Amino acid sequence: MPTIIGFEGSANKIGIGIIRDGEVLSNPRHTYITPPGEGFIPRETARHHQKWIMPILEEALQKAKITFKEIDAIAYTKGPGMGGPLVTVAVVARTLSQIFNIPIIGVNHCVGHIEMGRLITGANKPVILYVSGGNTQVIAYSQNRYQIFGETIDIAVGNCLDRFARVLKLSNDPSPGYNIEQLAKEGKHLLELPYIVKGMDVSFSGLLSFIEDRANNWLKGDKYSKADLCFSLQETVFAMLIEVTERAMAHCGSDDVLIVGGVGCNLRLQQMMDQMSRERGAKLYAIDERYCIDNGAMIAQAGAAMFSKGITTPLSKTWCTQRYRTDAVEVTWVD
Ligand code: MG
Repeated sequence: MPTIIGFEGSANKIGIGIIRDGEVLSNPRHTYITPPGEGFIPRETARHHQKWIMPILEEALQKAKITFKEIDAIAYTKGPGMGGPLVTVAVVARTLSQIFNIPIIGVNHCVGHIEMGRLITGANKPVILYVSGGNTQVIAYSQNRYQIFGETIDIAVGNCLDRFARVLKLSNDPSPGYNIEQLAKEGKHLLELPYIVKGMDVSFSGLLSFIEDRANNWLKGDKYSKADLCFSLQETVFAMLIEVTERAMAHCGSDDVLIVGGVGCNLRLQQMMDQMSRERGAKLYAIDERYCIDNGAMIAQAGAAMFSKGITTPLSKTWCTQRYRTDAVEVTWVD
């Protein structure tokens, strides 16, 4: 059985995972955490990855108890993501491929999330809600592609949550979204917010401006506490996502729904999706933070699927790209 190592670093996590026949042998990761109120800037994030990539690589090999001699292919994130961080990781992956003469595979990050979700849950052809800091898409497999049925027309839902956490100066440790989720649990009053669904697409930027304005002009004694604002934000954006996901399920006649991406470990989102699924006799497949949040194993798993169909990337094509749509990849391993 082939052993694949996967390198991920498209945003603020650097992760390296090793997979053999669907078994995760190791999957260490390190997150670049900025002070409250600050996001992560590409150049500084790239420096973080440069600092951590070798220690993480050593940890991945040690935990898996293997050497490079036993690795059959190297998978790396080709895109989408931030340029500097992507290049940092690609350079190391390409160098290792050259030194050890191992085939290299450029992986679409979104496909990585999908393949990891399919591996961990066993869902075969679900409707997929992919929600993270950089991406928001409703996806289903059809005719050798992961087709996009709906998506954000501006910012990603995770970006909306992260940026609101910055306004409230919430900690970025372990993630801003996690801290919004905790604060939202104390919320009691639902503030009506702009609910923006356009056909199968969603929009979050106007909603974010609205609630940012509300928080910036927040006064003590306001009927809506900061917890209420987090609660209202979550309830609104998740309801928008559930609506379009349900429509995709109805269209596809699908009884399975899978949530992937960093926002996918939000338990309130999972609860809302579970309720919608039950009401229509469908089943929710969800995964925890180890595999939902960006990690190396998901890139290894997508690489393994590609490798099983003989797909590798010639050295001259081992570049990175900030824009790389989910439906640009020909998927030959699902049917
Ligand atoms: Mg991601």
